[in-house]
Amino acid sequence: MFTRPVLPVVTALGLFLLTISGLTSCKQGQSADTNSANTNAGAIATAEASTKSAITAAKPTETAAPVTDPTTIPAGKIADPATILSRQQVPVLCYHQIRDWRARDSKSAKDYIVPPDLFKDHMQMLADSGYHTILPDQYYAYLTTGAPLPAKPVMITFDDGDLDQYTVAAPILEKHGFKASFFIMTVAIGRRGYQPYMDKQQIKDLSDRGHTIGAHTWDHHNVKKYQGDDWKIQIDEPNEKLQTITGKPVRYFAYPFGLWNEAALPELKKRGYLMAFTLAEKKRDPQLPLLTTRRIIAGGPWSAKTLYRNMVGSFRQ
Ligand SMILES: [Zn+2]
Repeated sequence: MFTRPVLPVVTALGLFLLTISGLTSCKQGQSADTNSANTNAGAIATAEASTKSAITAAKPTETAAPVTDPTTIPAGKIADPATILSRQQVPVLCYHQIRDWRARDSKSAKDYIVPPDLFKDHMQMLADSGYHTILPDQYYAYLTTGAPLPAKPVMITFDDGDLDQYTVAAPILEKHGFKASFFIMTVAIGRRGYQPYMDKQQIKDLSDRGHTIGAHTWDHHNVKKYQGDDWKIQIDEPNEKLQTITGKPVRYFAYPFGLWNEAALPELKKRGYLMAFTLAEKKRDPQLPLLTTRRIIAGGPWSAKTLYRNMVGSFRQ
């Protein structure tokens, strides 16, 4: 399974546990409440009725803005950190597995496993409520230059690279014309078994269809613990691998478990990452806020109504 003979003990143990649980859990930082679940009847209508005042501070236009290649933005046009922090955040949702719950799924695991019918409800709610999905290039251009975003922007992301993201989630997204970002843990590419993962061709296919492929380390090792060759193994080599697979630069990163520290930020910056995504934590770095961009986990038990309430509440400024 491993392409390297020796793993740090903690990493190997962590990967083993993730493997046997069928879940690469970004467990740090589940946000908001998970109590009010499974009440889909009327959720969409309620959400629609209450979205009139939601997320309008992003200076939306009614039409999607042309996507700017972030590398063409002159350095002098990039806003300072305080300006970036002052801009209204776009809600960013994080999903993991999109599959029906199994008997051995624990209660906490269900935060990371959204049944397909519920995922359909989530996406239908977003579409009915007038949301438009954006990709990281658009979010970056908006935060750094104030470039306009479509009305009611939202970003949908997936972590780890589970196969059901390709087979189940992507068709549901595309039915609504939605685009998403997929952060891939490269050690698992092509793995089959209890919890299978996308292979190279499937990752390339998502990229070719206009979705964004981002990095999520080699084997989900906590960024806060990197030393020695870890930056090479966890960041440099996975980035090269994903670039080779997609034929495109990889400029966006999601922290395993949502965990980061100040020491990691310049390391990511010098490796060319434009944005890196955390989880529920509210704090953003005052100097490099783009590398601590917030997301929330869209929990498996959340009805569409709960999702709506939590995403609006969490990203309100
Ligand atoms: Zn993860």
